[in-house]
Amino acid sequence: VSTSTSRRLPEPNASRVIARLAAPSPGPTLICVTALHGNEPAGLTAIRRVTQRLADSKLLRRGTLWGLIGNQQALAVGRRFIDRDLNRGWGRSTPGSSAASAHSAEDSEQVEVWDAIEFAKHQSTGPVFLIDLHTTSGRGKPFTVFADALACRQFALVLPCPIILGLEEHLEGTLIEYATRRGLVSIAIEGGQHTDPGSVNALEASVWLALRSCRLIDRLSEVASGYTLLEREAAGLPRAVEVRARHAVTPGDGFRMHQGFATFDRVRIGQLLAADRAREIQAPRDGYLLMPLYQEQGDDGFFIVTSVRRIWLVLSRLLRAARADRIAAWLPGVRRDPDHPDDLVVDRAVARWVALELLHLLGYRKLCEANNILRVTKQHD
Ligand SMILES: [Zn+2]
Repeated sequence: VSTSTSRRLPEPNASRVIARLAAPSPGPTLICVTALHGNEPAGLTAIRRVTQRLADSKLLRRGTLWGLIGNQQALAVGRRFIDRDLNRGWGRSTPGSSAASAHSAEDSEQVEVWDAIEFAKHQSTGPVFLIDLHTTSGRGKPFTVFADALACRQFALVLPCPIILGLEEHLEGTLIEYATRRGLVSIAIEGGQHTDPGSVNALEASVWLALRSCRLIDRLSEVASGYTLLEREAAGLPRAVEVRARHAVTPGDGFRMHQGFATFDRVRIGQLLAADRAREIQAPRDGYLLMPLYQEQGDDGFFIVTSVRRIWLVLSRLLRAARADRIAAWLPGVRRDPDHPDDLVVDRAVARWVALELLHLLGYRKLCEANNILRVTKQHD
């Protein structure tokens, strides 16, 4: 797999660039992507507010800030996507490198977005950070999602809102996971409901905190008030949660979430949550509800998450800092895939006692499981 493109990178299309602000001094780059889903314009307003303030007052101290629109065609018509979800299908190869690409609206969007990100990365004189701003169809408090590499986790923890672990095992091929594998410290931020003005405020607060965390700005009042806003939104919520269940929606199954549910609502096992043509759908376990689906497009009906104990976060950080992942391949029934050195193949019949939780602790995530064979891959740090 080639990580750099042989094509000369074009200057990003002006209509895709919301802002490009460079400070007088060199430094890190923060790339803010928004509207990867075309029906989520809140991030666009948030980025415009921040860049307006920075441009007016020359508060950018070092480095470069980019604001990029994800799905321009879907944004123009206010739909999540035209042909396919642009926040899926970020596979192992570089967009545009396969001959089969550029058949749908999103194929060309994907190539352009990645080219713009690569362009920003090549221009950078320091480390590159990426935040991907989203909103949800249902109501709910802000939270962050990332591929659980330590650097990304650290970046996410700058925001005082719940972090979601393990979502990447359910959402195949997101932009942030792809970008993380290519060396960008990346997180996605969910700000709240699509049309709620509070979502714009939450996403704006997140951008200020990210700017400060990357040291592009000094301590400003916006950073302090942004922190207070997000902290207030997260009051009473766990610091970290883990995905325990996902309800998959298939096109035409008539899935309908019952009214009134919001992200981080507590649910009990057996509680009626939704219905489709075939049956009533109950909560498969106790926990918190995440991202109940209240729009037509989307493959995820809802997720159930449970809180993660703080000791787990500490332990996993220590084990990874000690590079304990190297011992994983020595375990009986576990072997490294020679074609993909980051992947482990676990024979469950032999390695019965190797739990996925242990592999999570060592920094691996599940790719797939079938016929007693579990495949996991290492999260990049
Ligand atoms: Zn989204």
